[in-house]
Amino acid sequence: MKVSDTPENVKQCICPSCPSYNECMKTGMEGLFCARGKTECELKREGCICGQCPVHSAYHLLGGYYCAVGTGWDEDLGKAIKTLIGATFVPFKIAADIATDVSKNLEGAIPKPTKLASSIIEGRIWTLKTITKAIEKEIAELQEYKKKLEVEEEQKKEKVKVE
Ligand code: SF4
Ligand code: SF4
Repeated sequence: MKVSDTPENVKQCICPSCPSYNECMKTGMEGLFCARGKTECELKREGCICGQCPVHSAYHLLGGYYCAVGTGWDEDLGKAIKTLIGATFVPFKIAADIATDVSKNLEGAIPKPTKLASSIIEGRIWTLKTITKAIEKEIAELQEYKKKLEVEEEQKKEKVKVE
């Protein structure tokens, strides 16, 4: 979901507490990268805490490092993962491999010298975690929908009995 650049979201953004948030970002009063796009500063990836941010959950975001990758990418990855998960005939390993190709775009978007084996592995781990998160979300939604259907079925039966 597209994140709105509102004062409320700026207040909730936890980027200033992130280990990757540096002096340059602070001086430029940067933040809310998931709505405003990439940082203007040199970036050294020291970890990302977007996953703990209320904006992240409120907008059902999937990724992180928005200061490096900007906006839009999350949406593309979300679509790719959704497609992969929807294609149940694709074995999970292959789905993860395809999704990792998507994460290579992320790698390309991140300034050097982060193009190291460790960052590729990190990208892969992140992709797998993202897929897991998406699956868990879908399971929860399906369980909720199933419950709703069961209640409706029960109500229909009750109605038939009364009639
Ligand atoms: S998700 Fe990340 S970039 Fe977006 S508001 Fe939260 S901490 Fe900031
Ligand atoms: S987008 Fe993520 S990595 Fe970048 S400063 Fe915010 S929390 Fe840290």
